[in-house]
Amino acid sequence: MAQKGYQVLARKWRPQRFEDVVGQEHITRTLKNAISSGRIHHAFLFIGSRGIGKTTSARILAKALNCLATEAPTAEPCGLCSNCTSIAAGNNMDVIEIDGASNNSVDDVRELRDNIRMVPTNARYKVYIIDEVHQLSIAAFNALLKTLEEPPPHAVFVLATTESHKIPATIISRCQRYDFRRVAIPQIMELLQSILEKEGRTASPEALHAIARAAEGGVRDAESILDELITYCGDAIAYKDVFDVLGLVDWSVMHDLVDAMQRQDIIRQLQIVEDVVSAGKDLTQFVQELLRYFRNLLVCKAAHDASLLHLPEEELAGLRQRADQFALTHLIRLVEQFAELIGAFDSQLAQRIALESLLIRISKVSVDISLDAILEKLVQLGAGGLTLGAAPMAPAASAAPAAATPRVAPPPAAKRPAKADPKQAGPIAIAAEPVPAQSPRIALTEDNMRPVWDDLVTDLGRDKMNHGIWFHHARPIALTEESLTLEVARANEQAWTYVCKPENRAEMEAWFQQHVSNSIALNFVRTEGAPAAESPAATAAAPATLGQRHYGTVSPEAAARAMQDPGVQTVLDVFKGTIAEVIGGASAESDE
Ligand SMILES: [Zn+2]
Repeated sequence: MAQKGYQVLARKWRPQRFEDVVGQEHITRTLKNAISSGRIHHAFLFIGSRGIGKTTSARILAKALNCLATEAPTAEPCGLCSNCTSIAAGNNMDVIEIDGASNNSVDDVRELRDNIRMVPTNARYKVYIIDEVHQLSIAAFNALLKTLEEPPPHAVFVLATTESHKIPATIISRCQRYDFRRVAIPQIMELLQSILEKEGRTASPEALHAIARAAEGGVRDAESILDELITYCGDAIAYKDVFDVLGLVDWSVMHDLVDAMQRQDIIRQLQIVEDVVSAGKDLTQFVQELLRYFRNLLVCKAAHDASLLHLPEEELAGLRQRADQFALTHLIRLVEQFAELIGAFDSQLAQRIALESLLIRISKVSVDISLDAILEKLVQLGAGGLTLGAAPMAPAASAAPAAATPRVAPPPAAKRPAKADPKQAGPIAIAAEPVPAQSPRIALTEDNMRPVWDDLVTDLGRDKMNHGIWFHHARPIALTEESLTLEVARANEQAWTYVCKPENRAEMEAWFQQHVSNSIALNFVRTEGAPAAESPAATAAAPATLGQRHYGTVSPEAAARAMQDPGVQTVLDVFKGTIAEVIGGASAESDE
């Protein structure tokens, strides 16, 4: 597309003076001071991502050391002398640029060492600029280290790298280290604006902002995008052009989508996908943008220092606000889920369906959020901050569908005063079942006494696990106007002792007062042998109901066995859970 002789903007407008390097003032000022004061180190290490001015600064440094307009190195190279012009053109004999990626052998470095001994031809210093220095082999590093330990006085090294962690500490310790930063959006915008003015073209501020954001702090990337846009649009660049050229989706769309996710507004989410598709956007790129967006939310949430994102304050405010609405573990899982989505499709249609189904799955929070809540608990446990007491959850013992639709409704709010810590419960609140109004007290009869008793066990067991375990061993056997008689097997000494404790009886009686209209006392009796088997009549009556409560068909004995399982108890204990339902598996049913 480029016209004949067209020079890309990055090269055409490459900075020639320290003050023209955008966004690295902390580095150029230090370099200028060092040169002005004559304290010239023989080895510099330039660290930073690609396209942010490392090589450019190295060339300016070479000019500053070798400019012929002054008698000594100068912070203000003239840009006109033969050294300045040849260095800028990249053909000065004494300024040697080496690509570490392709000259990484020990022989290459030995050759460099031999070359170094020769005095410069036309310059004060021989300057070696080794780009991507981390790609050198270990042997090459060792050879380089020897040179750095005893450099000839006329040699200056500039080692540039995007991956400083791959450079041996022995090398780093011999160098003056300079960390280049990604460039802030306003600075990139300013640079682009000045280039456009020199090129005789215009762009809207929104367009410049969008380019700068897409470049993610890279000056060279921003200039390349501007190149493309100039080819695409001609003289005036509009905001929409940027998104067209880059196939980007506006962040307001992302904000909109996340808000719709939070509202579980599936229709709006599908509408957004529809808009993206009908605008001809590439869905893979959209998912990547989405992933980047959620990653930013995650960083906002997890790191207290959002400056990691290098985003302008107004963007951060929008991100922070949305990050606050998610639990950390929820964000982690979202990022993982969107990451999985990338590369998982082989057609646009498959992409769309996978994206839409993920959005819907995320919105169906009741199941997903329970997992998040569990993860949060595990995180708290791991961190030693064991503070249980969040909203009750269905334990793992009950099947997943039961977690979504508990068979036993939550107890009336009045009975369970503000036990759940709202801060901890977090998004669980979204998924929580609506708390029913105080359910009416019902008349206790011989027909319903067993399911009602089971309900008491479930309710009280929710607060105290031992209640759930031991109360299960008592079974109602008779009801009169004054009392309900419950039997406990004589063999079960522990259960007998437990149910007979005055404070435990008081809790049971209080429960009956609240839920049952009969005014009854509790009467416990001991029976020989195991408690009577579930009578067929009682089983046939199931599921009995009390208000909105439903009962499973598993015998109390089987349920009690399940509840005493150490694994179940651990789950109940850790998650402060309750048994919503004990579902009879094949083996449990075959006992009947
Ligand atoms: Zn000069």
